[in-house]
Amino acid sequence: MNSIDPSLTYAGQGNTAWNNYLKQLEKVSPFLGELSERLDMLRRPKRSLIVDIPVIMDDGTVRHFEGYRVQHNVTRGPGKGGVRFHPDVNLDEVMALSAWMTIKCAALNLPFGGAKGGVRVDPSQLSRRELERLTRRYTAEINLIIGPQKDIPAPDVGTNGQIMAWMMDTFSMNAGSTVTGVVTGKPVHLGGSLGRVKATGRGVYVSGREVAAEIGLELKDARICVQGFGNVGSEAALLFHDNGSKVVCVQDHSATLYQEHGIDVPKLIEYMQANKKIQGYAFNDEISNDAFWKVSAEIFIPAALEGVIDVDVAQTIDAKLILEGANGPTDSDADEILTERNITVVPDVICNAGGVTVSYFEWVQDFASYFWTEEEIYQRMDAIMVKAVHDVWHKSKQAGSTMRTAAYIVACERILNARKERGIYPG
Ligand code: NAD
Repeated sequence: MNSIDPSLTYAGQGNTAWNNYLKQLEKVSPFLGELSERLDMLRRPKRSLIVDIPVIMDDGTVRHFEGYRVQHNVTRGPGKGGVRFHPDVNLDEVMALSAWMTIKCAALNLPFGGAKGGVRVDPSQLSRRELERLTRRYTAEINLIIGPQKDIPAPDVGTNGQIMAWMMDTFSMNAGSTVTGVVTGKPVHLGGSLGRVKATGRGVYVSGREVAAEIGLELKDARICVQGFGNVGSEAALLFHDNGSKVVCVQDHSATLYQEHGIDVPKLIEYMQANKKIQGYAFNDEISNDAFWKVSAEIFIPAALEGVIDVDVAQTIDAKLILEGANGPTDSDADEILTERNITVVPDVICNAGGVTVSYFEWVQDFASYFWTEEEIYQRMDAIMVKAVHDVWHKSKQAGSTMRTAAYIVACERILNARKERGIYPG
């Protein structure tokens, strides 16, 4: 079965995020035995909703924004996945992100399927009132297909706890009662979980630490480059810094900062939080954006947007370990080059799964209306992450594959076996 059948509307054209996912999926097929016949289910999203979002702007004009919610697969439980507000959001990207959530939740053995949403908008260009109106109308438009038992959104690029609070409130107003479990990543006093904000970055560190030990890479003084210094990148950088590694290069949308002896990460975080960017922290140490991938380091952490590690980067990058904090940062052809060059990649579906793991805890706590301490959260999260990383590491050794393919094997076996047992309705 050809994965990229051009007659299907959901087959993306060219080097798109969705096609990248399809190529990754194809690599799993030879390892699945008779289950591979069922793989077609994962080559298409179960449900894709495109919505028009009219917003009354502060000057009284009406602007229309396009939004999406895609449920890629819900065989093992409700859809789970973030909502992205970014000017480049499109259906192809949201489909790919939703599929990666399917794989991620199954690879971690969380009782969720995969979903994702987004609105094509630059949130920095909206006032707070405009952003609230956009969020509430988007939520109302996707209201029918979300819910604590159906599909549970969360923050992603360009969204945060405040936006989740507005989504929760809008859903609750329509339901006639407070439904905290409809979204995760909420503020803690509204049913959010302790530890959620730092969870993804922490998971990047934990998975990196575990795999570094497997490949014999000493973390003390290891040089680290981090692309993206938001929620994920800054926390991962901080934990590596606190555990003795040297964060030598950080890039965000505004600048690329290089300090050979190691950046003072807590200070840079303070600066970034005050200025919303890293530019200007140390003008003399700023290098060109293109130079980021040419820095020599043991570990690279892409933690911004997808598709940044292409063939050119893969051919030249000087690293031992790549920790995919972002979703889909490495394109499929680049992946093969990295494998040939013996550079280990901890794939997004494992590496950045700390966030969804604590989102799962948030959902469980909301149902129970009983909340755990931060210590309990991290203890449980680390246990789930460490087990998943080692399951995937051992599967990769057994299959003779990359960790990405191994994660897909573990995930696809779980999903396809679940579908086999459930059967197809109507039978
Ligand atoms: P964020 O909005 O907090 O931060 C994004 C960072 O990327 C910012 O520092 C921004 O300046 C930087 N950036 C944007 N465009 C850039 C560019 N062109 N070049 C370099 N840097 C750029 O987002 P986040 O929550 O940290 O998410 C980052 C990535 O991690 C995304 O791919 C997201 O899907 C993924 N992710 C996030 C979570 C989570 O819990 N937040 C969970 C899983 C995966």
